[in-house]
Amino acid sequence: MSFGIMLAYSPSLTLIAVAAVAAYAALRWLSYAPLREANAEYLVLAAKENSHFLETLRTIVPMKLSGQQAARRVRWQNLMVDVIDRDVRTQKLDLLFTTASALITGGAALWLLTQGAAQVMENTLSVGMLMAFSSYAGTFSSRVTNLIGHAVELKMLGLHGERLADIALEEAEPLAEVETDLQRIRPCIALRNIGFRYAEGEPWILRHLDFEIAAGESIAIVGPSGCGKSTLIKILLGLLPPTEGEVLIDGIPIRRLGLSVYQQLIGAVIQDDSLLAGSISENISFFAPDFDQGRMEACARTAAIHEEILSMPMGYQSIVGEMGSSLSSGQKQRVLLARALYKQPKLLILDEATSHLDALNEQRIVQAIAPLNLTKIQVAHRAETVACAQRVIALNGELGCEIFVVSNPMSSRAALEEPQSMPT
Ligand code: ADP
Ligand code: MG
Repeated sequence: MSFGIMLAYSPSLTLIAVAAVAAYAALRWLSYAPLREANAEYLVLAAKENSHFLETLRTIVPMKLSGQQAARRVRWQNLMVDVIDRDVRTQKLDLLFTTASALITGGAALWLLTQGAAQVMENTLSVGMLMAFSSYAGTFSSRVTNLIGHAVELKMLGLHGERLADIALEEAEPLAEVETDLQRIRPCIALRNIGFRYAEGEPWILRHLDFEIAAGESIAIVGPSGCGKSTLIKILLGLLPPTEGEVLIDGIPIRRLGLSVYQQLIGAVIQDDSLLAGSISENISFFAPDFDQGRMEACARTAAIHEEILSMPMGYQSIVGEMGSSLSSGQKQRVLLARALYKQPKLLILDEATSHLDALNEQRIVQAIAPLNLTKIQVAHRAETVACAQRVIALNGELGCEIFVVSNPMSSRAALEEPQSMPT
């Protein structure tokens, strides 16, 4: 509309206003590529600096032990300098652009005024018309430059979008396709010719795994370090999709069951699992809003940690996690085990979950867990723990695995004496 009125007032002056806007658009277009590049570099450098800083915080103790603080600080300072340097460069570019565009707008306004004044002198335009024209021209150019500015900002946002795309466009975990009654699923697992490698062209870590685990059975997985025990555990947990073959739970492929349904059946302690910042009771109940104190204590007893928690000044309210008071790694493992049990799972999956325990506590846990009515799969080193399993699966890389039946497992003895159910 302003454009129409301007044309009606004076086509020649309108041409000047349009030329100014076009010059501004050209400037924006020219400055877009370098600004975008500088912004992209800034984002990457800032992310690097950030992760370096957080990593330093996390590994502060080993860092001090190895006397690397000074070198580490220097490296961080260098990263910080890079970030600031890039920030200054972006701001300089911005400043250059703002100055140039101010020059264009100012110059155009001056030109408009002199040309308009000349037309007034020649009596082709009245003073009132010139004033009205310049006000309309102002509205016109500010609207158009705003539009261009927003369009450029929108494109710049794409930069952040690209960085998020990796996460956002990742395929969602498949939802349950089958309507299932969790209560009815039996915790028996079948591995159908499972093979796994981390990428195409890399060696097979697991191959030809074809066996079944009955409901209520207790299985130990053994093998030398690096043979793929944790990998197999992650496949059983549904965290890694097998490269070949399929895992079935009570005859239903995990894929079809859906990870969120499947994981309600499982209690797990994975290797290098960690506690979250919060109290011990929050950690055991996994921050459930209405947790059951009785069940929590029963689980802590099974995990042989109840007395130790009670002897802490704040008991179950003691704060743990990265920023809280530190539990020993053995205590941490037992709290993690209590957390796995609190879910009242049908399947207990443990990956070296007792590796930091002394033999006595491990024995107490083994005996407390043995009579529980659930399927147990654990990666274990100690001979005593392995001996409690009914069957032992020894991984053998590409050759598959060997399965041994333990002749007189402690668990079956205990189960015969007095079957118990999960603590409630
Ligand atoms: P274990 O638990 O028996 O010690 P893992 O299952 O952790 O063994 O590892 C088995 C093999 O897979 C090792 O050679 C390890 O280097 C490799 N590996 C583990 N995780 C990854 C990964 N995320 N990417 C590529 N290779 C991996
Ligand atoms: Mg492992």
